[in-house]
Amino acid sequence: MSHGALRRASSHREYPFVCRFSLYWKKSTVRFAAMSVQAVAAKMAEVELKDVAGKDSLPAISPLTPKAEEKKSENYSTSSPAAAAAAAGEPSPVTAAPNPVKMPQASAMKRPDPQQNGGEAFVNCDGTVAEAPRMKKIQFADQKQEFNKRPTKIGRRSLSRSISQSSTDSYSSAASYTDSSDDETSPRDKQQKNSKGNGDFCIKNIKQADFGRREIEIAEQEMPALMALRKRAQGEKPLAGAKIVGCTHITAQTAVLMETLSALGAQCRWAACNIYSTQNEVAAALAEGGFSVFAWKGESEDDFWWCIDRCVNVEGWQPNMILDDGGDLTHWIYKKYPNMFKKIKGIVEESVTGVHRLYQLSKAGKLCVPAMNVNDSVTKQKFDNLYCCRESILDGLKRTTDVMFGGKQVVVCGYGEVGKGCCAALKAMGSIVYVTEIDPICALQACMDGFRLVKLTEVIRQVDIVITCTGNKNVVVREYMDRMKNGCIVCNMGHSNTEIDVASLRTPELTWERVRSQVDHVIWPDGKRIVLLAEGRLLNLSCSTVPTFVLSITATTQALALIELYNAPEGRYKQDVYLLPKKMDEYVASLHLPTFDAHLTELSDEQAKYLGLNKNGPFKPNYYRY
Ligand code: NAD
Repeated sequence: MSHGALRRASSHREYPFVCRFSLYWKKSTVRFAAMSVQAVAAKMAEVELKDVAGKDSLPAISPLTPKAEEKKSENYSTSSPAAAAAAAGEPSPVTAAPNPVKMPQASAMKRPDPQQNGGEAFVNCDGTVAEAPRMKKIQFADQKQEFNKRPTKIGRRSLSRSISQSSTDSYSSAASYTDSSDDETSPRDKQQKNSKGNGDFCIKNIKQADFGRREIEIAEQEMPALMALRKRAQGEKPLAGAKIVGCTHITAQTAVLMETLSALGAQCRWAACNIYSTQNEVAAALAEGGFSVFAWKGESEDDFWWCIDRCVNVEGWQPNMILDDGGDLTHWIYKKYPNMFKKIKGIVEESVTGVHRLYQLSKAGKLCVPAMNVNDSVTKQKFDNLYCCRESILDGLKRTTDVMFGGKQVVVCGYGEVGKGCCAALKAMGSIVYVTEIDPICALQACMDGFRLVKLTEVIRQVDIVITCTGNKNVVVREYMDRMKNGCIVCNMGHSNTEIDVASLRTPELTWERVRSQVDHVIWPDGKRIVLLAEGRLLNLSCSTVPTFVLSITATTQALALIELYNAPEGRYKQDVYLLPKKMDEYVASLHLPTFDAHLTELSDEQAKYLGLNKNGPFKPNYYRY
C-alpha cells in the first residue's frame, strides 16, 4: 500500500464488533447468535442507555448493511438527493470486500534605557517615540537557561491531540499541580510499593496517589463515553486476555482510558510518550490502583527509553496489543524485540508522526501487524483540530501574556480546521482578525466568514498578534519579524515548530529575555521587542490545557479501535494501515450526545429509502467533508 493511501473498510462484515456494539441503542431484547465479540456486544446491548446517562429516548442503531461506499463514491454525480445518496451507498445485502480508498494527501517599539531597566521609550508604528513607564525587571528561575539546550523531545509529539492530545506538552503549569523538583532523587533509584505491596512501577512519588485520584475523578466527569463503555462491560469483557502496552501522555484523561481498558478486561503496562507531560500524581494514582506505570515528569532521554523498555521487557508477560502516540514504542519493539510481533494482534496509533511512521513501514513491506490510524478519523480531525483549538488558543494566549483580546488586530496564517477555530474564538472576543491563505477554497471560506484575507506583508506592521496554523514551514520569517511592531505577540498552533523561523532570531544583535515560563522577549538593537511564545512550538500544548471532552472523543476512538483489532478474526485485517470506519466515528459521536441532552432525529423508513441510507447509518459517504 502506498504511503498516504488510507484503507477504510466499511462493510458490516469487516467491522462486526463496532456495528453490533452500537446496538446498545436497540432494545435489550436484541440477540446475537455469533460468539465472542458479538456475544459481548449483545451483553452490552442489554444495558439501557439510561443506565449511563439517564436517557432512553435515543434512536436505535442496528448493524450496518454491507455496502461498498468507496467504489460508489467515485460516481457521486447524480442529480437527485435520492440518487446521490444511493450512489453514496445504498443499503444492499451485497457483501463487500474491503476497499482500499485513496484519500487526497492532507496533505510602539521599545527603546531601553542603556543605564537601567525600564525607563524605555516606545516607537509607535508611525515612527514617533513615546516615553514608556519604568518597569522593574523580574528574575525568573529559568531565565538563565540557554535556549538551544532544551531536551529534544519537546514539541516532537503531535497532539494527537492527540489528544492526544495531551493536556500539555512541556513546561506547562497546568500539566501537573505537583512539582517534580521537590525531590531530586531519580525515581529509578527509589524502591516504592503501593499499599498492596506491589512494586511493579516506577513513578515520582506514590504518596501523591490520593491527589491523583481526585484528578482522575474530575476527568471522568468530562469523559462520558468511556464511562458508558465501562458500565456496559460489566458482564463479558471484550478485552479479556488483552495485554496492552501503551505509550501516551500520562494525564488524568489517559488514566480514565486505562481504567476503562482494564474494566473491559485488559491488562495494561504504560510509559509516557513525552518527557514533560506526565502528571506525577496521576501516575501515582494509577500505580496505587495496580497499573504498571513507568513515567514521571522531567524524564531524561535515557529515562524515556528505559521506561518504555520496562513496559515490554518483563518476565512472564508479553504484550499482544500496542497503543502508541508518536510511534516510539512501536519503533522500540521493532528495534529490540521484533519477535514480539508474533503475538501482537495490532497497533493503534493516534499521532500524525506515528501514523506517518506506520505508512513508511507499510511502504517498505515491514509492517508485520495490522494498524489503526486514529489520527485521521473524522471525530479526531474535526473535534481535536477545530473545537479544541477554538478554546485553547485563548487559554494559551491569556496564560502567557494576560493580553486583552478586544480590539486587538490579529493575523491568523492558515484557514484550515485549526485556523478556523482560532479565528472564531478571537472574533467572538472582539478582535479584528485577518487571515492569510494559499488555498483559494479556504481563502473564500475565510472571506465568507467575514475575515479580511490579506498577505502577511500587508498587515505585518500593524498587527498585535500573529498566529501560525498552516502545518507548513517558514511562514513567519525574520524579514517579517523585523517589521513587526513593538510588543507584537508571535505564536504557533501548528504541529511542529517549523512555522516560525525561530532560528533566524538567534543572531548576535538580538537579545533574548525570558520573562516567564514559555515567554521570551526578543529585543532588537533599537529596543523593539516581540513576544515569542513557547519558542514557536504548539502554543496550546505547551502553555495551556486541552478540553477533556475533546480528549474523551479521541480516547473513545482508541478504545474501540483496540477492541476491534483485538477481537477481529484472523485474516480480517492484513498487515496494513486502516482508517477507522465511518460507523465507528458515528458511534463515538453518539456516545457523547447524551452529555448535551441532545435528541437525534431518526429517519423514517420512507426517508431512509428516499436517501438510499440504512436507517442506522452510516449516514454519510466516506468522502463527505462535514
Ligand atoms: P489544514 O490542512 O486543515 O489547514 C492548514 C491550512 O494552512 C490549509 O488551508 C493550507 O492551505 C494553509 N497554508 C499552508 N501553507 C500556508 C502558508 N504559507 N500561508 C498561509 N496558509 C497556508 O490543517 P489543520 O487541521 O488546520 O492543522 C494545521 C496544523 O495544526 C497542523 O500542523 C496540525 O498538525 C496542527 N494541529 C494542531 C492542533 C493544536 O491543538 N494546536 C490540533 C490539531 C492539529
